Amino acid sequence: MNGHFASVGADPSVQDFEHGVQVIDDQKEFNSHLNEYLRQVHVAETGFNYHLISVFGSQSTGKSTLLNNLFGTHFSVMSESERRQTTKGIWLSKNKKEANMAQNILVMDVEGTDGRERGEDQDFERKSALFALATSEVLIVNIWETQVGLYNGANMGLLKTVFEVNLQLFLKDKQSNLRSLLFFVIRDHLGVTPLAALRNTLVQDLAKIWSSISKPQGLENSRIEDYFDFAFAALPHKILQADKFTTEVQKLATRFTSGHRTGNSGDHEFQGGVFLPEYHRRIPADGFSIYAEGVWDQIVNNKDLDLPTQQELLAQFRCDEISREVLVGFDQAIVPLEEKQAESTRTGRPAVLTDLGTTGNDARTQCLKAFETQASRYHKGVYTRKRQDLESKIDSRLKTLYLAHLTAVHKSGIASFSDAVSAAVKAGQKSGASYEFAEIVAEEKAKTLDFFKTEAQSLAIQGIPWTNFKPQYDIFEKELDDVSGKLRKEEMRRLATRVERWVKSRLGDAVGLEFNKLGSGRAGGGAPEEGEQPSEKDLWDRVWNVFVDIVREAQSRFTERAKSFEATQEEVDVGLWRLRRKSWVALREKIEEEVMEGNILLKLRENFEDKFRYDDAGVPRIWSPADDIEGIYTRARESTLTLIPLLSRFRLAATYASPDLPGWIGPQPRGAEAGDEEDLVPIGGVDEEDGKSLEEEMTVLSETKRQDLVVRFKKTADGVYVEAKRSAIGGVAQ
Ligand code: GDP
Ligand code: MG
Repeated sequence: MNGHFASVGADPSVQDFEHGVQVIDDQKEFNSHLNEYLRQVHVAETGFNYHLISVFGSQSTGKSTLLNNLFGTHFSVMSESERRQTTKGIWLSKNKKEANMAQNILVMDVEGTDGRERGEDQDFERKSALFALATSEVLIVNIWETQVGLYNGANMGLLKTVFEVNLQLFLKDKQSNLRSLLFFVIRDHLGVTPLAALRNTLVQDLAKIWSSISKPQGLENSRIEDYFDFAFAALPHKILQADKFTTEVQKLATRFTSGHRTGNSGDHEFQGGVFLPEYHRRIPADGFSIYAEGVWDQIVNNKDLDLPTQQELLAQFRCDEISREVLVGFDQAIVPLEEKQAESTRTGRPAVLTDLGTTGNDARTQCLKAFETQASRYHKGVYTRKRQDLESKIDSRLKTLYLAHLTAVHKSGIASFSDAVSAAVKAGQKSGASYEFAEIVAEEKAKTLDFFKTEAQSLAIQGIPWTNFKPQYDIFEKELDDVSGKLRKEEMRRLATRVERWVKSRLGDAVGLEFNKLGSGRAGGGAPEEGEQPSEKDLWDRVWNVFVDIVREAQSRFTERAKSFEATQEEVDVGLWRLRRKSWVALREKIEEEVMEGNILLKLRENFEDKFRYDDAGVPRIWSPADDIEGIYTRARESTLTLIPLLSRFRLAATYASPDLPGWIGPQPRGAEAGDEEDLVPIGGVDEEDGKSLEEEMTVLSETKRQDLVVRFKKTADGVYVEAKRSAIGGVAQ
C-alpha cells in the first residue's frame, strides 16, 4: 500500500488514518475528514493545547524520512530502489512519540513544494507555503549541507516564496503579531564546517533574499525579524552514519517542547524548546479543520487571505455549532416542562411543575457554562455576541416557562385564598361563635402571599433582572385585595341580610303593638280627659319614632360589625343607606299588612265598640231603654270615623306633614357601585325618576279604599247599634 490516499473501506465513515490524513490532495481538494482524524487522535478536544509543524524543502531531501524518525509518523518515503517522484499534497499526522516532547504535536508533510526543480509552475508551491504559514507555528526547512550558500539554489527560491506569501498575510492585518519559527535542519552534515558557520551563511543569505523581494505598500521598511525567528540543527548522513543519525534525531526531538524568549524579539535567544506561545495561531483544536478549510478555500481561489476575517468566520461557525450542541442538553431538561405546560394550557388544568426553578436554572447554567468552555476560545467579539444570542434564546424560553408557571401559581393562589376564606367563614358561622372576618382574610392573605413569594423566589437567578418577579407579586397582591374586597362585600351582604331580618322582626312587634292600640278607644293609656281625643292622633308619630329607633339601633349594630372586618367608610355608608331603604320598605309592608281590609275593619270595630260599650270610666254599659243609645252610638261612630283619614296618610301630628323620608334616607352615597341599588324597591319622593311622589309614598289608604272602609265600618257599627238596641229592649222584657 503506497499510503498516499486514505483508503476508504467498506464502511465509508470509517477512515484508515494509518498514514495520517491527506489534508490537501493533488487535485488541491481539501479533505473533509480532517476533523474526524483530529477527533480520532484526541486532538480535537485539546483547545489550544496542541502544536502544528510543517516541513518544507526540495523534493527527495529526506523530509518524510526526517518526520517519521522524529515523530514516529508513517508518511510515505520514496523507496530507495525506485526513486520515483511523489505526488503533490499535504499530509498531516499526530506525533506518535510523546516522550520528552510537547503534547499533541501535529505535523504537516508538504509534498512537492519544490516545483521549480521539476520545471513546473510554482502555483502549488506558493499555495501550500501560504497554507502552512497561516496554520503552523514552526516551519522546518529541510536542506542539504551542500545546498547551503548556493544562493540561487532551489531552496532559496522556496524561501523567497515563503517570505513573499508571508507578507501577503500582513497586508490585511498590519497590526498582526503573527510570528513563526523557521527551523533549518541541515542534512548530511559532514561535520567539517561547524554548524555555526553554516548558520552564518544561511542568515546572510536570508537577509539577501529578504532585501530582494518586493514589499507591498506600507510594509517597505519591514524587517525579516519582524516576522520570523530562526533556529538551526544539523544531522549526519542517515545511511552512512546511521547510529549517529539516530542519536542526533533523538536529541533534535527533545527541542520540540514549550519554550520562551529570553532576549528581545529577533535576538534568537530562547529557553526551553521551540514552541513559543507567540507562534500559536490560537485556533481552538475543535475549529482547526473548519479554519484550515476556509483558509485553503481562499488560497485556492486566489483570494486575498485575510486571517482575522477567517478567524471571525470560524468563530461564527463554531459558536453556532457549539450553541446547537449545548442546546441539546438544555432541551432535554426543558422540553418536557414546556410540553407539560402546553398540555395544561390545552386542558385548562394547572401544571404542577415541581422544582422548576432548580431545573431551569441548572439547565441554564450548564448550557452557558458548556458554551463558555468551548466557545470562549474563539474570536472574543464573536464569542461575546453569540453568548448573548444564546443567553437570550435560553432566557426567552425560560421566561415563557416561568411566567406561565407564575400565572398558574397566581390562579391557584387566588382560588385557594377565596376557598380558604369562605371555608373559614362557614366554619365560623356553623360554630356559632363570633368570627373575625378581617382576621381570617389577613391570615389567609399572608399565607397565600407567602406561597407566591416562595414560588417566585425559587425562580430567581442571581444578577438576572428579568427573574425579579416583583411586578407579578404586586399584581398578585392587588388581585388578592380585590378578591378580599369582593368577599368582604359578600360578608357585608350577609350582615345586611341579618340586620334587615332583625329590623323586620322588631318592626313587626313594635308597629303591630301601635296598631293594636287602635283597638282600644282609649289608646294612650288612662282615661282621656273630657273632650280630648284619645292619643290615636299621634299614631304615626309613635310609629315613626319606633321605626327610627329600631333602625338607629340596627345601624349601629351594622356599623360596628362592618368596621370589625375593615370595611371602608364608603362601604359602610352604602350599607347603611341600603339598610335605611330596606327598613322603610319593611315598615311600609308592615303598615300595609295592618291596614289590610279585614285587619283594619276589625280594629275600627274594636275601637268603636270600646267607645260605644264602655262609659268614660271604662265600665261596660248595660243598655236600658232609657239610655240615649242613639246619641252614644253617633258620638262613638263619629269618633272612630275620624281615624280613617288619620290612617290614610302617614303624617306627623306636630307638623301635619309626612316625615322627611328623603332627608332621613339621605342621598345615595358616593362609592356606591353600579348594582348596589339594583335589588332595591323604588321609594316615592326619594327616587325621583320613579315618578312617584312622597305624597303617594305616604298614602296608606287610597281614596277609594277609604270610602269603601267608611261604608263597611258604618255597616259594622250599625250592626252593633242594632244589637245594643235589641239588648236594651230585651233587658226590659227580662
Ligand atoms: P522527501 O521527498 O523529501 O520526503 O524525501 P524522502 O523522505 O522520501 O526520501 C527521499 C530519499 O532520500 C529516500 O530514498 C531516502 O532513503 C533518502 N534519504 C532519507 N534520509 C536521507 C539522509 O539523511 N541522507 C541521504 N543522503 N538520503 C536520505
Ligand atoms: Mg516526502
